Amino acid sequence: MKPKGVLVVGSITADVTAFSRRLPRRGETILGDDVTLVLGGKGANQAVAAARGGAPTWLVGCVGKDPFSEIVLAGLHSYGVASTEIRTVDNRTGVAHIRVDASGENDIVITPLANSDLSIDMVDESIRAVRDRASVLLLQLEIRTEVACHAAEAGAHAGLTVVLDPAPAQSLPDRVWPYIAVVTPNESEATALTGVEVVDLESAERAAAWFLDRGVRHALITLGAAGALSVTPEQKRHFPAYPVNPVDTTAAGDAFTGSLGAALAGGLDTATAIRRGMAAGALATTRPGASPSLPDREAVDELINLHAIVGGAAQ
Ligand code: ADP
Repeated sequence: MKPKGVLVVGSITADVTAFSRRLPRRGETILGDDVTLVLGGKGANQAVAAARGGAPTWLVGCVGKDPFSEIVLAGLHSYGVASTEIRTVDNRTGVAHIRVDASGENDIVITPLANSDLSIDMVDESIRAVRDRASVLLLQLEIRTEVACHAAEAGAHAGLTVVLDPAPAQSLPDRVWPYIAVVTPNESEATALTGVEVVDLESAERAAAWFLDRGVRHALITLGAAGALSVTPEQKRHFPAYPVNPVDTTAAGDAFTGSLGAALAGGLDTATAIRRGMAAGALATTRPGASPSLPDREAVDELINLHAIVGGAAQ
């Protein structure tokens, strides 16, 4: 039997979010209504999504020596993410500084700090430590590019199924793409990477072809409320979204990729894994925030079963 674990290599931040009626003008000071301090970072969010999706999950990343590290480690622990592959380095924990106004409009400054210390050697060590217990490696691009590229290559060589969410979008060397089993860009990331402006299914298909031409086995373009387009050399298939009432779309992509990874590691077939990712993405939009909005396996089961019973769009 294949191991069911998920190894995530990526960023960890403390997300400091200030809520105010409106955003301050340049140089202005205003009084806010609330502030939150929670676990964040795309790597941590994917790991939480995979763990809540039911997979044994390890996160490879770096935190610093400061009070923020306790907060992020406690967050990961509370969601069941193993912290054995997290290094405490001589730096400060990464911070995302977020401001949100009453309409939900936000701006964000991410300071990587300890995330920049994640090294190729650390990734190699962690892949060696966990490879017998994991079958899927999840990656995003909030860590140094050469480290993410190396993780893809080393993960593929170790026999792991490498899933890349290319966010934030940045160009990668051509030699990396053949190591990627599944790539999961949203419309704007697919547009930035391929040069094809993704506005509908037809343009999403052309963007997917760009990835396949470079050696990716499976391109999954996520389209928000329009669902996802799955393209392999053998098959093209559109999956309509699960209808929900979104309040905050933050972390829908992380929920999608984490839940997809957990389902693939659990041995589910690709179409079922895509539906689980989509249901997790849809549910993440129904709650505010990033890591606190990521749904568990039961909530995903419930949404999928509901639509199976009523014969909804997402069949
Ligand atoms: P990102 O957060 O990276 O921009 P998307 O917005 O494409 O990613 O969301 C990922 C997946 O989550 C989508 O493919 C879809 O299945 C689901 N999803 C996202 N937004 C919605 C929505 N408004 N309604 C239903 N499902 C959604």
